[in-house]
Order: sequence, then structure tokens, then C-alpha cells
Amino acid sequence: MKTGASALCFCGKEPAIFLHYAQKHLCEGHFIRMFDKRFRKTVSVHQMLKKGDRVAVGLSGGKDSTVLLHSLAELRKDLPFEIVAITIDEGIEGYRARTLGIAKKECGKLGIEQVILRFDTETGKTLDEAMARGKMGPDDNEPAALPCTHCGVLRRYLLNKGARQAKATKLALGHNLDDMAQTVLMNIMRNEPARLARLSEPLMKSDRFVRRIRPLMLSPERENAIYAMLKGIDIEHVECPYARFAFRSHVRKMLNDTEVRYPGTKFKVVNAFFDMEEGLRMQFGKARPLSECSSCGEPCSGSVCMFCKRVKAGG
Ligand SMILES: [Zn+2]
Ligand SMILES: [Zn+2]
Repeated sequence: MKTGASALCFCGKEPAIFLHYAQKHLCEGHFIRMFDKRFRKTVSVHQMLKKGDRVAVGLSGGKDSTVLLHSLAELRKDLPFEIVAITIDEGIEGYRARTLGIAKKECGKLGIEQVILRFDTETGKTLDEAMARGKMGPDDNEPAALPCTHCGVLRRYLLNKGARQAKATKLALGHNLDDMAQTVLMNIMRNEPARLARLSEPLMKSDRFVRRIRPLMLSPERENAIYAMLKGIDIEHVECPYARFAFRSHVRKMLNDTEVRYPGTKFKVVNAFFDMEEGLRMQFGKARPLSECSSCGEPCSGSVCMFCKRVKAGG
């Protein structure tokens, strides 16, 4: 940057944000306009919504899903569709209560119906109880079971079930650009390309799967936070206490470090995935026909689904 003048938005106003990947300062108004435009473009390019859809929003009350709820509620003014929020209460002491409060309040403000599903009533145990059953590591900071893997399986299952029961045609998730880039890298680093192949949608069709959409998948996490702040959306700065045990947090740090040195890396990782996606789906699409879980009847690739395995194992 050459002069002080370039540290302003192109309109001449004081900037609210600097976008490193675009080498651009934007004022509040132009940032919000860019953000909204990108949201709508993502929805339309990836054909996520159509008139008359009933969209279940996975609403944790964290900043991403809350911004998603707001942006969808805005979009609904131009493209008529219904929204129902689905909140999963995992039962994580000192963490979930606060975000649950925000989720409830935001639904009230926007006049959106909310369904709450609890781990303990659906599976018999809160996440805390399930984790406490495992032996703790030597220094008392590592649960024996991997909480994020366990939680992820249960949450995905319950969101799909909740969406289906709410008669939703789509399930909208708040995953942001950072989440997507992490997921892509994690699947490569674990050599699980088949998981990448089904990241956007399952390889096999089943009318019991509600199609998942991720309208914020091209919004960097930092921009969701700033957008929420500028729009006066309540956000809670608490991280799930189990997050630090996850492989994801290692990948997050690595990606963030790389992004600082090579701005635009997160977009590049996700765009690389989009370019590979069709090929991956062709390669892995033929394998493993779907059957029904012998225990709960949900679609699965074996005889018993991952959810039932985990719940029955007492995990
Ligand atoms: Zn401006
Ligand atoms: Zn099952």
C-alpha cells in the first residue's frame, strides 16, 4: 500500500474491515453489502433453495448459525420459503446454556419456530455424562473417548431426524469457509477421500436424508463475527470445552498460520475441493449401497448405524 488514502474504503469512508485475501478495505456499508451479495450468490450458484422450500436451520446459537438464521430470514423476503430452527442440546456444562439462550431469543425476535432436541432424552446421556464414563487420561485433561467424533455423529443424526420430522425439504448448516477448509484438509490428512466425496451430499439417495446446504461456506469465520457485531446480533464468545482435544483444532491453527503468510489459502483449499468434487463422487459413488439400520431404521451403509452403535455402546 502506497499512501494513507488507500487505507480507506473505495467510497472514501473509514474502513470497518481489511480483507487480506483481496487486499481491500471496506467500510461498514460496503462490507455488509459484499457479505449479503456473497451469501445470495452462494445460494444461487449452488442451487440451494427454491420457492416453497421448508428450511430447517441447525441453530446452535453460536455466531455462524445465528448469522445464517438472520441471512435466511432476510432472503425469505424475496424468495418465499419457510424456516424452522432445530437446536441440539448436547448437555455440555457451562457452554451450551448460554448459546441456547441466544438461539431461543433470536428465534423469538424473528418469529421463527424452534425445535429443541436433547442428547439426554434422545440417547439417555448428555455429552458430559457420556465422556465421563470413559477413563480420563493421566493428567486429567483428555477424555478417553473422542468427544467431537462422538458429538458429531449424534448431532448429525439428530439434525437429520429433527429436520425430517419437521417436514423440512432442506437442512441448512452454519459451516463457514474455515470449517470447510479444515474439513477438506482433515479428510486428506486422514486419507479419507470417500468422506470428501460425500461432504456436500450423500453418495446414495434416500428419502430419509434431508439435503444439507451450507450457504455460509464461502464466508470466512472472522467475517461472520464482524457481520454479527455490525448487525447487532448477540454472539457468545465461548468455545466448546472439548474442542481442544480435536484434530480439527490442530488443523485450524495450521490453516490460520498459513492464511496469515499466504492470504487466500482457505478459499483456495475450498475451491480445490469444488474442482475435485465431481471426480470424487464418480469414483466413490458406486460403492456400498444404503440399507436400513436394523435398530432404528435410519439409512446406513452397514447393518447398524453409527448413532445406534455409539448409543448402545454406552458412549
Ligand atoms: Zn464504502
Ligand atoms: Zn440406527
